[in-house]
Amino acid sequence: MLKGKVAVITGSTSGIGLSIATKFAEAGASIMLNGFGDPDVISKLCATLEKTHNVQVKYLGVDLAQAAGPQTLISETYQAFGRVDILVNNAGIQHVSPIESFPADKWETILALNLSAAFYGIQAALPLMKGQKWGRIINIASAHGLVASAFKSAYVAAKHGLLGLTKTVALETAKENITCNAICPGWVLTPLVERQIQERAQQQGISYDQASRDLLSEKQPSQRFVSPEEIGDLAVFLCEPGGTSMTGTTLSVDGGWTAQ
Ligand code: NAD
Repeated sequence: MLKGKVAVITGSTSGIGLSIATKFAEAGASIMLNGFGDPDVISKLCATLEKTHNVQVKYLGVDLAQAAGPQTLISETYQAFGRVDILVNNAGIQHVSPIESFPADKWETILALNLSAAFYGIQAALPLMKGQKWGRIINIASAHGLVASAFKSAYVAAKHGLLGLTKTVALETAKENITCNAICPGWVLTPLVERQIQERAQQQGISYDQASRDLLSEKQPSQRFVSPEEIGDLAVFLCEPGGTSMTGTTLSVDGGWTAQ
C-alpha cells in the first residue's frame, strides 16, 4: 500500500512511535527511525523490521530538542533514501509539577521537543513534499491538546500549540496534495505513562495496579488503555487513499476522554 514511500517517525525507538514505524513498515514504506535507546537494541530492531517486512530501515538518534535536530533528521533521510513522503512528529516528553515549582528547564525542553521540533521538521520537509507533489504530515498530539489537566502546564501548552500548527500547515498546503493532521490519544500504556503511574503509586502509597485503575477511571470512560497499534493503524490510514481529503483535523483516540 505504501510501497515506495519513505516515512520519518520521530521518537520511534519506543511506545507509540515504534508502533507507528512497525505499521508503516508492514504497509511497505521505508523507515527512518529516531529516538534514544541502547544502540544494540536499536540495530536489532532495524534488522528485524527490515527482514520481517522487506523494507529499508535506517536510524538517526539526533536530539530533536535542539533546534537544528529536525532539519538534520530530514536532510539525512533525504540523503539516505532520496525522498521524504511521510513525517510523523511523535517524539514527546512529560513533566508533572505545579506551575509555581515547574522547573524552567523542563518547560523549555518540553516546548522545544513537543512543539518546536514539529515546526522545524515540517519546515524542512515541506519543500521536498511539494517537489514530489505528495506528502503526509501527522502530528501526535494528545487529549491534552484539547483539554487540560492540572500540573501539566508545559505539556498541555505544547500540545494545544501543536493543534494550531497542524491547522495552519493544512491551510498552507491544501492545494499541494499534502495533508497535515493531528492524532490525539488518551492514555496509552507506554514508558511515558508507566512513569506517571509509578509516581502516583509512590506518592499515594498504593499499588501500581490501583494507581493504573485510578488513572483510567479519572479520565478515560472506556476504562482501558488505548493500544499503540490502534494509533499506528490510524496513522497508516491517513496516508492511504481514503485519507486524501482529510486535512487540518484533530482525531481523538481516547476512549471517550474528551467527549465528557
Ligand atoms: P515514550 O516515552 O514511550 O516514547 C518517546 C520517544 O521519544 C522515545 O523513542 C524517546 O527516545 C524519544 N525521545 C525522547 N526525547 C527525545 C529527543 N530529545 N529527541 C528525539 N527523540 C526523543 O512515549 P509515548 O507514550 O510513546 O509518546 C509518544 C508521543 O505520544 C508523545 O508525543 C506523547 O506526548 C504522545 N502521547 C502519549 C500518550 C500516552 O498515553 N502514552 C497519550 C497522548 C499522547
